[in-house]
Amino acid sequence: EQQPSNRMIEAHELLKKFYHHLLVNTKEGQEAYDYLLQRGFTEEFIKRFEIGYTINSWDFAVKFLTKRGFNLEEMEKCGLLIKKDDGNEYFDRFRNRIMFPIHDLQGRTIAFSGRILGEGQPKYLNSPETPIFLKSKTIYNFHAAKKAIRKQEQVLLFEGYADVIAAVGAECENSVATMGTSLTVEQAKIIRRNVESVIICYDGDGAGIEATVKAASILQEAGCHVQVAPLPDGYDPDQYIQEFGALKFRQSVIENSLTYTSFKLRYLKRGKDLQNEAERMHYIDSALKEVNTLTKAVEKEHYLRQLSDEFSISLSALKEQELQINKVQKQ
Ligand code: ATP
Ligand code: MN
Ligand code: MN
Ligand code: MN
Repeated sequence: EQQPSNRMIEAHELLKKFYHHLLVNTKEGQEAYDYLLQRGFTEEFIKRFEIGYTINSWDFAVKFLTKRGFNLEEMEKCGLLIKKDDGNEYFDRFRNRIMFPIHDLQGRTIAFSGRILGEGQPKYLNSPETPIFLKSKTIYNFHAAKKAIRKQEQVLLFEGYADVIAAVGAECENSVATMGTSLTVEQAKIIRRNVESVIICYDGDGAGIEATVKAASILQEAGCHVQVAPLPDGYDPDQYIQEFGALKFRQSVIENSLTYTSFKLRYLKRGKDLQNEAERMHYIDSALKEVNTLTKAVEKEHYLRQLSDEFSISLSALKEQELQINKVQKQ
């Protein structure tokens, strides 16, 4: 219906520059700037990612855009303003937030995600779906990471903007994130057009693990080869990098990535007491079902051997039971 317009993008470009100026150069932006520095964002990376701040006002953007001749109705359609219930007046969508600009694949500014300073809800406020911001086709930092992704023939996929910024700070330039929602088929296709190998590096919590399984199956469906970077329980990549440093992140997390099968075998263990005989048997059973889904004989053998070593069960017994699964399914 609504055609994307250059004015919508122009408004985002101008506001992005002004928000950045407010954060970096003004007294109003000082508290937000201090918050970012205290979290470990550096001056260099605040510049590089063009992070900004918008003041606690209902009509800062309204006035800014009016003064520059923008049509407010159009500005409402691209998510910057909200229309008041009564009448024709508008107010700012984003107030008193740290502003992360979001770019399309060509690097044009098409949306913002605004983070609250400190605690509070919603933590991130995103631009809505608009003619210029198609969430399911947008990948955070893809435009900037594309060269590194192609050169390294690998992409690192994160949950959060802060994770991407910290990872780039840790010299992982091939880092991108989804938009706070689960990975979509369209995003997976965009990734596959550029690269085959994907390392998923989601938060080390229950939600992160579930999201990893979902993303992995979508990526595999799109023809990607998936690995999973192991994070300790309760850490997200940003926290890990702040606490343990860039080198350890690259060595212990990224370079230590698991095959997707190893990740699943590990995650099937969660909450199980493997010292307990019955739980151990149950685990081996579900692990064999997982191995059974593999199509390559060499891979099957590899994981069966691992299980054999881990639980001191003969390879032949494991193979026999693994074959048994097919028979049961065919009946
Ligand atoms: P921070 O480090 O700033 O606390 P985070 O990236 O670790 O942020 P998470 O709570 O792990 O935040 O959420 C992961 C991602 O999900 C965020 O980066 C953001 O894109 C999205 N997100 C989080 N909370 C919301 C929300 N209330 N509304 C929309 N998106 C959200
Ligand atoms: Mn999380
Ligand atoms: Mn997180
Ligand atoms: Mn975080």
